[in-house]
Amino acid sequence: MAEIIVGPGNQPGPSMFDDTIGNNLPGIITASTDQLFAMARKSSLWTLSFGLACCAIEMMSTYMAHYDFDRFGVVTWPSPRQADVMIVSGTVVKKMAEPIRLLYEQMPEPKWVIAMGSCATNGGPYYRSYSVVMGVDHIVPVDVYVPGCPPRPEALLYGIIKLQEKIMRDAKK
Ligand code: SF4
Repeated sequence: MAEIIVGPGNQPGPSMFDDTIGNNLPGIITASTDQLFAMARKSSLWTLSFGLACCAIEMMSTYMAHYDFDRFGVVTWPSPRQADVMIVSGTVVKKMAEPIRLLYEQMPEPKWVIAMGSCATNGGPYYRSYSVVMGVDHIVPVDVYVPGCPPRPEALLYGIIKLQEKIMRDAKK
């Protein structure tokens, strides 16, 4: 019978507790409630499900099995009432400006916005077009910009990691 060989496999990542709080006092946790809440929030980001143009296809790919957004705690959610991240993926035309702001205002605090792709960042190929908003930050505050036309799923994953870092950094203020 062939011997089963067990390889190294995936190694666990660094402990969030150690990263955030340090391990100077074994068995004792000292942290502000802001830090603890930030740890929970950054590990369970619910993103509002909507897409505006071609960038949305790359965003959908990021949720699928190959890229598996779930492993970052990211869940796509069809209502703004429980979502805490808005990923603006695509061209923001002027007639969509008001609906986007309305969706943003319906999201509970705290909330964050990712501008995915050059259209959402600054109008992209439609720069100075009569019908396109020159960046979604004219409508809602943006926390992370993901460059590209379109950005690949890896870029969006990196954007989520940067947002997680920002959430922890803001909690330490
Ligand atoms: S940035 Fe490029 S891929 Fe994304 S919505 Fe605009 S034109 Fe499409």
